[in-house]
Amino acid sequence: MQYISTRDKNLKVTFEEAVKRGLAPNKGLFIPENYITLSDEFWANLFDMTLPEIGYHVGKQYVGDEIPDEDFKKLCNEVLNFDIPLVRVKDRIYSLELFHGPTCAFKDVGARFMARCLGYFSTKKNEKTVILVATSGDTGSAVANGFLNVPGVDVIILYPSGKVSEIQEKQLTTNGNNITALEVNGVFDDCQALVKNAFANFDTKGKFKLTSANSINIARLIPQSFYYYYAVAQLKSYDSVICVPSGNFGNITGGILALKSGLPVKHFVAATNANDTIPQYLQKGVYTAKPSVQTISNAMDVGDPSNFERLNVIFENDYKKFGETISSYSFTDDETRKKMKEIYQKFGYTLDPHGAVGMLGIEKYLDGNDTTPGIFLETAHPSKFLDVVESATEVTPNIPQSLKDCLNKKKESIKIENDYKQLEAILTERYL
Ligand SMILES: *Cc1c(COP(=O)(O)O)cnc(C)c1O
Repeated sequence: MQYISTRDKNLKVTFEEAVKRGLAPNKGLFIPENYITLSDEFWANLFDMTLPEIGYHVGKQYVGDEIPDEDFKKLCNEVLNFDIPLVRVKDRIYSLELFHGPTCAFKDVGARFMARCLGYFSTKKNEKTVILVATSGDTGSAVANGFLNVPGVDVIILYPSGKVSEIQEKQLTTNGNNITALEVNGVFDDCQALVKNAFANFDTKGKFKLTSANSINIARLIPQSFYYYYAVAQLKSYDSVICVPSGNFGNITGGILALKSGLPVKHFVAATNANDTIPQYLQKGVYTAKPSVQTISNAMDVGDPSNFERLNVIFENDYKKFGETISSYSFTDDETRKKMKEIYQKFGYTLDPHGAVGMLGIEKYLDGNDTTPGIFLETAHPSKFLDVVESATEVTPNIPQSLKDCLNKKKESIKIENDYKQLEAILTERYL
């Protein structure tokens, strides 16, 4: 499979190059040149397949022979070593629980897959890769954990001191080994500026590769298609509607890639919080990026979703075609809190605020007499948003063992000022 830029279909690169570059040279995003096709045997066996088996068969179409079959099979087994169960919440509505990974959020799947692909390519060429990532909390932990102990790759995370939650800080600072946490005396924007400064100015003298683990990387997107097949396999129905709580629209783009490969799903719903750029686009036919507004489902506080550029190419710049496949609705924090409370009280199921937006979306779409089963993606464990969940449902959610273990570990970080010279000194000392 070759990958093309959203801004020029004649700009083609291999999977390896797309993973290493992240962004295309013309600033476009990489997308597969063609939609994948899966064998009749795959479709005939889908309902009996495990998640790693699905990952292997689907992923192979994207990776081609750039990673040999045996290595790729092993990679999928490592990446997908936790379950993604489909759980019935009420009537015909099911939750696809994406939070059973090491950091309890769906970004684990993408980060782990990307880490191991990059690790494979680095080791093969005997290169050292250093990943620099600035985080305001959530993405950093999935990336850090995804790259933990991946040979050939070191990760340096910059996070703003005192500006992340306790659990987030522990997830960033207790990994050890090839993961280093730099605690910056500043805000998130300072961390991001330090990283940008390093990319622009640090001379690696050819001794290692400095790269980012950006969410627009194609290797984070591809594995996000695997669990849509697995959801259909568990539901054992050729007829469902799937709702994805959306921010940058990467998760739903994974679903659309699955749909285009022939996955039998009737329709998709993208549910957003007050950041309603896409719902507005589908109503008006004009895309207007907005500044983001803060909500209780803060991982979706995005006013200019990065994957719109990919979806726009997929739907041929036509908002009507977009709307035939994806409906999109926006919900307020108030509606989200009420839904969390109602679902807990009536059905004993605890939603996190992002999953609650997903539940609102699927209910709205299925409202009426339609008998189609609906699935929403539950993207984070409710205990990651403890305060919001407690105040909405008046109960404390169970904290999974992996989070408890992490809370008990000792924080290890290196404190630095908001000063590029200090970051430069660390890179020089370690790698030059
Ligand atoms: C990142 C994130 C989302 C949004 O996913 P996108 O791919 O950006 O649309 C939703 N929920 C949670 C918990 C997240 O971390």
